[in-house]
Amino acid sequence: MNKKTRLVVKVGSGLLANADRLTPRFAFMQRLMDDIARLRDEGYDVILCSSGAVALGLNAVGCRPEDAGVNDKQAAAAFGMPLLLNAYKQVGHEFGFEIAQVLLTLGDFEDHRRFLNTRNTVNRLLKAGIMPIVNENDSITTEEIRVGDNDRLAAKIAQMVEAERFIILTQVDGLYDRNPSEPGATLVEELRDVSEYIDATKGKSTLGTGGMLTKLQAANMAQNAGCETYIANGEAEHPLTSVLNGERRCTRCIAHERPDGMWQTWLADRLQMAGSLVLTDDAAAALSEGGPIHRDHVVSMDGEFSRGDVLHIYDQTGTELARGLSDFGAEETRVLIYNKELPADQLLGYQTHAEIIRNENMVMVEDRHLPWETPQMSETPGESVR
Ligand code: GLU
Repeated sequence: MNKKTRLVVKVGSGLLANADRLTPRFAFMQRLMDDIARLRDEGYDVILCSSGAVALGLNAVGCRPEDAGVNDKQAAAAFGMPLLLNAYKQVGHEFGFEIAQVLLTLGDFEDHRRFLNTRNTVNRLLKAGIMPIVNENDSITTEEIRVGDNDRLAAKIAQMVEAERFIILTQVDGLYDRNPSEPGATLVEELRDVSEYIDATKGKSTLGTGGMLTKLQAANMAQNAGCETYIANGEAEHPLTSVLNGERRCTRCIAHERPDGMWQTWLADRLQMAGSLVLTDDAAAALSEGGPIHRDHVVSMDGEFSRGDVLHIYDQTGTELARGLSDFGAEETRVLIYNKELPADQLLGYQTHAEIIRNENMVMVEDRHLPWETPQMSETPGESVR
């Protein structure tokens, strides 16, 4: 049996909605869906991650993009989502295939059980020959619990379905080494290490394209999972096949030659920091030999995490060392690490090894991973719990 090549495509709002009128750009959708139909015939399984719901709903709620607050966007998404999906449904029929909607929130990626459930749904749709169209469920997500950008959401989907290819369609030709409007700006056509350009995308007038940072973060996540990623302009006659056939200029982010496995990938790539631990100098030095992280190794902690959330592990200078799944919730962890003079069994009321993170549930942060900055620790070493 031939295994189909899996391709995740992310399409930005600017391609789907007219910037002034905030109405659908059907001509673009037709070019896109025509190209997807072509790829399906060639043996690709395509998963589309489409933005545009908020943009297409703003008129109805009487807002302009620059003035819309969270609540306006939630309402706009509720209005725009069926409009967007109906358009895809109809254009899909024109090209002879069916689409289905999968709306997700942060927890569907960050909670491993929900991650696997979502994967089953997407796989089942693909098995039925239906193209999943994925988006964030913006109507019910608030600032604290939203992914916020579809670039990283699409990268997570690419990891989830073990996609071989990932195309991010946007309104520029790819990543430039400086603001594309500056003289001498050059398109980066091949990219191995996105960290070389991360700082440039954060600056105000360096790269011009506001969304390039999340695109690079997304590319990094996909690369590490062994997925070749392309950042390309969507305004082309054949927006996808021209990229895959190397017929036009774009940024190609080479897949890592030693990709992480599914579990390591899931542990390493976070969308939100649930919590963090700071280790003693000795424990930090010994960590390269592997875990577990015992309560005796922890100097301080941050975050209101639950058991099963992934924690970021730092040394005392703020360098991120590892990420790992916590065996305890924040409350128990706090009790364990700030009362080291008392036996763990006595503190928790049950028998325990007091290993906050087990070795098999931990992944070391390497050069290939983009480190996260250490949060401001709210608690101080030695602080005691009443
Ligand atoms: N989920 C948003 C929408 O559908 C888009 C988020 C993004 O542009 O990255 O409108």
